[in-house]
Amino acid sequence: MLIVGAGAAGMAAAITAARRGVKVTLLEQNEKPGKKILVSGNGRCNIANRRPDPSRFHCGEPEFLSKALKGYDAGRIESFLGSLGLELVEETEGKLFPMGRQAHSVVELLTRECQRLGVELVTDCQVHAIRKEEKGFLVESSQGAFHRQRLLLASGSPAAPQLGGSNAGMLFAQSLGHRLIPPRPALVALESEETWPAKASGVKVEARVRLYASGNAVTEREGDLLFTDYGVSGLAILDLSREASLRMAEWEPCELRIDLFPRQSKERLTKLLQKRIDPQRNLPIDLWLEGILHRKLVPILLERSGVRSRSEGDLGRKQIGQLVYPMKNLSLSLSQSRDFRYAEVATGGIDVAEVNPQTMESRIVPGLHFAGEILDVDGDRGGFNFHWAWTSGIRAGMAMVSS
Ligand SMILES: Cc1cc2nc3c(=O)[nH]c(=O)nc-3n(C[C@H](O)[C@H](O)[C@H](O)COP(=O)(O)OP(=O)(O)OC[C@H]3O[C@@H](n4cnc5c(N)ncnc54)[C@H](O)[C@@H]3O)c2cc1C
Repeated sequence: MLIVGAGAAGMAAAITAARRGVKVTLLEQNEKPGKKILVSGNGRCNIANRRPDPSRFHCGEPEFLSKALKGYDAGRIESFLGSLGLELVEETEGKLFPMGRQAHSVVELLTRECQRLGVELVTDCQVHAIRKEEKGFLVESSQGAFHRQRLLLASGSPAAPQLGGSNAGMLFAQSLGHRLIPPRPALVALESEETWPAKASGVKVEARVRLYASGNAVTEREGDLLFTDYGVSGLAILDLSREASLRMAEWEPCELRIDLFPRQSKERLTKLLQKRIDPQRNLPIDLWLEGILHRKLVPILLERSGVRSRSEGDLGRKQIGQLVYPMKNLSLSLSQSRDFRYAEVATGGIDVAEVNPQTMESRIVPGLHFAGEILDVDGDRGGFNFHWAWTSGIRAGMAMVSS
């Protein structure tokens, strides 16, 4: 059998099939396999999640997901990874990591197992066309043509093109008759219409961020928020970026409202500010605000509040209320998500309505299978994307042997 793409899904499928005695050829356009694994989790590789609840994955057909994930719990994935020689440890929120916290070891162990099983790994091999023949497939590549009866497309998504991310496989599938849901960047930073975030570039806060689309609140997240030259980043932003990216792609106006003091209610914050007023000390207003807020955020907040007072002694009830409002509700209009170069994953992909969730086989082209991010499945941050890559790769590898 032939596999296009030596990422997590392609290698999991290759190992699964080769362990059952099948001869596998694995084509990879990069000079080495598993480039996305290498950079994942900041080089530590958040390899799976202990609680792979279907609600943590996104897909046009929820039923496809629950069928595909059934039986592929963390134990199953751990036992596959364990069979390579990899021990896992759990961190917060069920996130699983290799015990050595090194993505490099994951790629090494996957590659070593492929070698041991005699998988033919052809690197620097870019596939540029796929044709269905009477018996099987003709795959044309920069290293010649390959004829095989069974073909697995595990060529991923266009996210992170610098690591090999590409929509080529999706287009091959489309040329064979598959429907494609347009991919969009996800787990990605967001660009703003307004330019003020640049003035606070580099400032990281713990915030609660609410996303509004067409004036309606859609979702909210709490966590790190980083102001940047182009807009906002940080874990809270990555976590709501999927929703924002999809809506902006549909031209919905999107806005963030940032609560810079998520642990303080409006009333407590008002009281705190009132208590801090000391007419004896009478600090200039900006310095007075620096006592509770990052210096770079002070002029932004003052401008938003419309407060003209010069010093703390000038502040009355009304001005305090004016200051509290943007502290709890700093609004920022978004323009777009950052592009695929900065995205960890892509939404969209091959429509799963045309794929069998047990075997990952096409319902349109017999003998053609898919695995990983090429399909219209993406996960939350937390190891869910690799969880999907292993699950769909193992399923495809098993099915390609038995059918
Ligand atoms: C910076 C970053 C950090 C991430 N961190 C995490 C994390 O910690 N945890 C997590 O769960 N997920 C993480 N992800 C997401 C995760 O890496 C992907 O979801 C996962 O790698 C998808 O696996 P895949 O095998 O489907 O695709 P890929 O890993 O993209 O593999 C596809 C392979 O196909 C090759 N290919 C494409 N087109 C062709 C062609 N025409 N010919 C030949 N070869 C081709 C590509 O070069 C690539 O090697 C991260 C992603 C990025 C970019």
